Amino acid sequence: MRMLISNDDGIYSPGIAVLADVARHYGEVRIVAPDVEQSSMGQAITSNRPLTYRRTPLKDFEAYRVNGTPSDCVALGVHLWENVDWVLSGINLGPNLGTGLWHSGTLAAAKQAVLLGLRGIAFSTPTRDDDPKFEELRPHVDKVLRLLMQESSPRLLNVNIPPDAQGIRWARQSVRQYDGKMVLDKDPMGREHYWFTVVPIQEPEAGTDRWAIDNGWISITPLRLDLTDDQELEKLAPVAFANRNGTRLGKTGIADQAR
Ligand code: MN
Repeated sequence: MRMLISNDDGIYSPGIAVLADVARHYGEVRIVAPDVEQSSMGQAITSNRPLTYRRTPLKDFEAYRVNGTPSDCVALGVHLWENVDWVLSGINLGPNLGTGLWHSGTLAAAKQAVLLGLRGIAFSTPTRDDDPKFEELRPHVDKVLRLLMQESSPRLLNVNIPPDAQGIRWARQSVRQYDGKMVLDKDPMGREHYWFTVVPIQEPEAGTDRWAIDNGWISITPLRLDLTDDQELEKLAPVAFANRNGTRLGKTGIADQAR
């Protein structure tokens, strides 16, 4: 088993070493991660300048830092190292839950693995004011890897581990509305600037990732890359829906498509 380890906090963030250290009990690991923080970069790729990588000291790991995004790191990592089975991303400083998944660079690394035909798991931990205690997450990460590193596992998984986790919950992504507000402020020279702040504004529904974390559970969500709204597609084009799904037939046939 070969596992490429990446993140979006940068290669020197403490979470990546803990993840790699636990993962190496399951196979070969290699770290390929951004040279500086790339949080909230989502699925961005670098297409207007060259990418380079450098070997970097990180405990006794084979580790490389890349002047790019999490997606760049995964693409370059699996290009340079053949036969990677899994890409593990994290452990992110801070949660990646609900609608925040759209912005997450941590999850993007795992998604990039799936785009390239591999499998990916993103790991994050909610942080409080005190320093995150990554060492305490070790047994939880180990438990999650033991559960997920199997042939029958989903291809893309998002895992959030609270510090005092009481167990594991399979959870849906919470898609309740959030507050993506631009907050106006001023720099020391008196010039106006803005901060993009993102805060959930509704209580999480039971059974979702946000709910699981709020209640002290490790949250695991199987994800997919297909953004199609199946209900809308079925209404608009039942034949197309039936063909894609492969199991259901449109009620009125081809004419529906042309109407
Ligand atoms: Mn991050």
